[in-house]
Amino acid sequence: MAKKQFKAESKRLLDLMIHSIYTNKEIFLRELISNASDASDKLHFLSLTNEVARRQCGELTIDIVPNKEARTLTVTDRGVGMTREELETNLGTICKSGSLQFKEEMTKEEEKEAVNIIGQFGVGFYSAFMVSDRISVLTKSYQSDTAYRWVSDGADGYTITEAEKADVGTVIEMHIKDDTDDEKYSEYLSEYTLRRLIKTYSDYIRYPVRLMCEKHETTGEGENKTETVTNELETINTMEPVWKKSKARLKKEETNQFYKDQFHDFADPLITVRVAAEGVVSYDALLFIPEKAPYDYFTKEYQKGLRLYTNGVLIMDHCTDLINEHYRFVRGVVDTADLSLNISREMLQKDQAVSVIAKNLDKKIHSELKKTLEKDRETYERFYKAFGIQLKYGVVADYGIHKEELKDLLMFYSMKEQKLITIKEYLEAAPEGQKHIYYACGETAAKICALPQTELVRKKGYDMLCLTDEVDEFVMNILMKEGDRDYCSINSDHADLLDEEDTKKAEESAEENKDLLSFIKETLSISDAVISRKLVSQPVCLSAKGSVTLDMEKYFASLPGEQGGGVKAERVLELNASHAAFAALKKAYETDQERAATMVRVLYGQALLIAGLPVEDPTSYAQDVCSLFE
Ligand code: ADP
Repeated sequence: MAKKQFKAESKRLLDLMIHSIYTNKEIFLRELISNASDASDKLHFLSLTNEVARRQCGELTIDIVPNKEARTLTVTDRGVGMTREELETNLGTICKSGSLQFKEEMTKEEEKEAVNIIGQFGVGFYSAFMVSDRISVLTKSYQSDTAYRWVSDGADGYTITEAEKADVGTVIEMHIKDDTDDEKYSEYLSEYTLRRLIKTYSDYIRYPVRLMCEKHETTGEGENKTETVTNELETINTMEPVWKKSKARLKKEETNQFYKDQFHDFADPLITVRVAAEGVVSYDALLFIPEKAPYDYFTKEYQKGLRLYTNGVLIMDHCTDLINEHYRFVRGVVDTADLSLNISREMLQKDQAVSVIAKNLDKKIHSELKKTLEKDRETYERFYKAFGIQLKYGVVADYGIHKEELKDLLMFYSMKEQKLITIKEYLEAAPEGQKHIYYACGETAAKICALPQTELVRKKGYDMLCLTDEVDEFVMNILMKEGDRDYCSINSDHADLLDEEDTKKAEESAEENKDLLSFIKETLSISDAVISRKLVSQPVCLSAKGSVTLDMEKYFASLPGEQGGGVKAERVLELNASHAAFAALKKAYETDQERAATMVRVLYGQALLIAGLPVEDPTSYAQDVCSLFE
């Protein structure tokens, strides 16, 4: 019979898998047991509503049977099984998503990267090829009368044939590789090792994981003494789900392992929260905040939500109603007895219990983050680096209804401290008499700190928050005020950074140049032209009146399509009255207004460029510049 080939990229992945990946080959058993457990979950869940499944669903156990003579290890489950099509799609293609691009030649670094991605997609089953040279999967789906056998030796593809099997479920038989100098594969046939692996990796599995063990029994006395050896299935795992264990009995290694297994992460979680709630709604929850955002976190593919169990039976993989959008990075499980099992998914959304749990968890996560911020700054900063932006989105979302709750968790880069600080810390350090909370936007903190306007802030002994995320300025707008101090851009007119004397000088100069300023305003048809109170060495700069700032305009312009193209800041040209360019302009205005208008346009072009905005008509701008040489 012709062998089917694995898809090209799958084959490459498989090679990687078999030869180079895990140093930790022993995890293959955990992967197979997890699959068996998932398959059992599925059948159990289906049996609640589906008559066919109910009839097929028996005692759900997972059996591990080593056979030293035949050098085989078998993992048997009584779960959903697979149809022929499922065998083909599930075990015929490794990389189901197809989003992996494989180059012919991969560097070691790229290989590592690929392996990371592989891990996240879960090539669980294929890890069995690390220890076996031939795998046979005998399976019968609850929906099918026929059983099938899938056989593969890894490298050359696989075959699928019809086979005999009485019950639903799957039997995976691995032929264990021969021992080599470096690797003693035989140990995966030893009872001692298998027992240890089940205990270490699969203790929390909710179904009995039974290992075929040799039982030695002696009967009789003296001459008549005989030893009989029988084989018996012995349940190895404790079966208690981790999330049901009390805090006191819960070991960190155990929850970390659980997290990594269940949520396909290589790293331990950064923060773990165990909740055992009793009240109107009783539930157990185990929540995790990852160390890093998953690779698809900022894409549409990422599914937020917690895994919802009722009495240990999985009801929903991603229950989105359990978690608020601003904490969408939280993974974990919730188990409650207070839900009706036959409830449909639509109903679930309106379920009272779910919304009570969601509310409690929201509080719990908040207090845990706050505690981390106060007690373990280093961990909190790692968290903030990964997910701080999500909190900011949370502040801005829905017109700021969550801002009070979330603002304590925010951090911004401080110009004075040169590190991240909270708003509370900013306020505590602010000298008396400081009226505003100052901030400025820019690409990097270094660039912001180099802005000419920051001189004035420093002179006053004030600190300033450096905003580098696009969403930051919106956050400031939504937060508005802390006590009697409002958030204020250092570019803003009411920034109060000038001394009385400077202010007076600027006012006098504005009065003196009134006509020139309105000439400029009209020439450019902009909102205003003013004598600047901020400029030191530059002749001009651009600022904005009203609620839309230049940074917002830039942000909206960067949105795809027509979304934000229409949002424009009301532009104000600020002029430095003590600059030579201003003196020249003034002179031209008195003698040659046409030349003055050209100068005004050139200065405006400069201001736009410095602000990082495009000049509207580059050709006429260039002509203007040249005409000034005449
Ligand atoms: P993952 O478990 O991460 O999806 P695997 O490669 O381990 O990746 O498994 C691929 C798919 O094969 C599973 O999603 C499941 O649909 C199916 N599968 C694997 N093992 C079993 C099993 N014992 N019973 C039923 N289906 C299984």
